[in-house]
Amino acid sequence: MTKEEYDVIIIGGGITGAGTARDCALRGLKVLLIERGDIADGATGRNHGLLHSGARYAVKDGESARECIAENKILRRIAPSCIEDTQGLFITLPEDEDQGYGLDYQAKFIAACKDAGIKPERLDPAEALAMEPSVNPALIGAVKVPDGAVDPFKLCAANVLDARLHGAKILTRTALDSLIIEGGAVKGVRTVSTLNGEKAEYRARVTVNAAGVWGQKVAEMAGATVTMFPAKGALLVFAHRVNNMVINRCRKSADGDILVPGHTVSIIGTTSTKVPLDECDSLSVTRDEVKLLLKEGSQLAPSLASTRILRAYAGVRPLVASDDDPSGRSISRGIVCLDHESRDGIAGFVTITGGKLMTYRLMAETVTNLVCHKLNWIQKCVTASRPLPDTLDCKCESGDGEIICECENVSMGDIRAAVNNYDINTLEDLRRRTRIGMGTCQGTYCIRRAARALAEAQGAPERAASLEKEYLQERWKGMMPVGWGDTLREMEFMQRVYKAGAPSTFKD
Ligand SMILES: Cc1cc2nc3c(=O)[nH]c(=O)nc-3n(C[C@H](O)[C@H](O)[C@H](O)COP(=O)(O)OP(=O)(O)OC[C@H]3O[C@@H](n4cnc5c(N)ncnc54)[C@H](O)[C@@H]3O)c2cc1C
Repeated sequence: MTKEEYDVIIIGGGITGAGTARDCALRGLKVLLIERGDIADGATGRNHGLLHSGARYAVKDGESARECIAENKILRRIAPSCIEDTQGLFITLPEDEDQGYGLDYQAKFIAACKDAGIKPERLDPAEALAMEPSVNPALIGAVKVPDGAVDPFKLCAANVLDARLHGAKILTRTALDSLIIEGGAVKGVRTVSTLNGEKAEYRARVTVNAAGVWGQKVAEMAGATVTMFPAKGALLVFAHRVNNMVINRCRKSADGDILVPGHTVSIIGTTSTKVPLDECDSLSVTRDEVKLLLKEGSQLAPSLASTRILRAYAGVRPLVASDDDPSGRSISRGIVCLDHESRDGIAGFVTITGGKLMTYRLMAETVTNLVCHKLNWIQKCVTASRPLPDTLDCKCESGDGEIICECENVSMGDIRAAVNNYDINTLEDLRRRTRIGMGTCQGTYCIRRAARALAEAQGAPERAASLEKEYLQERWKGMMPVGWGDTLREMEFMQRVYKAGAPSTFKD
């Protein structure tokens, strides 16, 4: 059995774990990160991709708003290739007046933004329409704020890559089996490979629980209680980029009130429903959620009602329970960093959770400060100023320029670079690294070629058919809840293309 020693072990390869691995590695610590699936497999790969300006939180949660605008500025500096500077609009519609969110509320919103250090710009309806032609023309007012779009997959991968470049060991498909507890202190982890069941043991002076909503179970293994509030959010992806600026409603947060453009598509979200922890591994989107998102989304941009929906997906926010709010909307999105030694008498164990994608770097800095304190290690955080790597290292080979995915412009070279730089096991992993199959055809034209390319790059050409089948099944799941009209036609077409070569590719 493998047995190794580290300064710090991080459990969870979402953005929080990836950012923490990078920060710890940059400060010179010997780091191991374990992730049971692939990086960005949890909430990090299932969110909206909104680069918050903080305006959404300004009225109710000034602290979160200030954190967001500070990190917004930092991320634009250190991760420009992961960010689109779209800017955002907070719009007021005539019906908002009846619910107390008319232009008086807009004035309160502008004042709260200014207080938090966000620069709001009041626009009249004609100016807003000229800036963003897709916006509901019935609007009675709008405020422009420095929102943007962030690519969560790329951001997470860039943190993992930089952590690795600075000596961190990153093990994907490696689940925490149990914690090693000796003399009331956590001394490391016992792991099991989710690929082949192989077991291993890794020891460290500090273990960081960055397992998102699953952090509750990890804490339980240490004998600590961290009560999570798993708040499911459903989202819809549209077949083209409907809007170029983020569009939000200028009112209390509610379902379907943010439309984010990203790459070639637009995403509407989200709902917020508490789900049992055990359901977080197998989320599905219901028809009612789809209808609600379409109804609310069309209020932001009326053309959504007649735009083809590519797919639906859902994620679970890792919020820490603080009251019995049934939707979780009013729970703070603030950072929760728990030192289990002072809190529960369990040495060598800390939890970092809550927060947002937007504030991951600050979360990582906060928990790495605590880790360094515990290790008596004095090194300053440099992640606010040091740029993340934005290109993959790839030696140019013949055929690298061949385009495999036309919708997302993914070349053979991109696939080889991803395989060389990350542990890519499946086409889903490749999608998270390159966006292959995420565009308007959802893999209809490219996945057979991609499966062959990946299988060959892995030196196992015989795997191509099973890689293809597994990937298409996953896409299918996201198309099922929106399977009508043009989406249904696209699904029929996809089936015909693939059934010709692989009769049992699709399950009902
Ligand atoms: C619907 C929705 C929309 C959102 N929109 C936005 C947005 O627009 N902007 C924004 O800033 N934030 C947004 N968020 C919030 C953001 O996505 C999350 O706060 C963030 O991604 C959490 O990252 P994390 O690393 O803490 O958790 P996760 O990404 O969930 O990572 C936890 C990881 O731990 C792993 N893990 C669990 N158990 C084990 C184990 N036993 N062994 C090993 N690994 C394990 C999991 O596989 C997972 O990969 C949204 C969230 C949701 C759900």
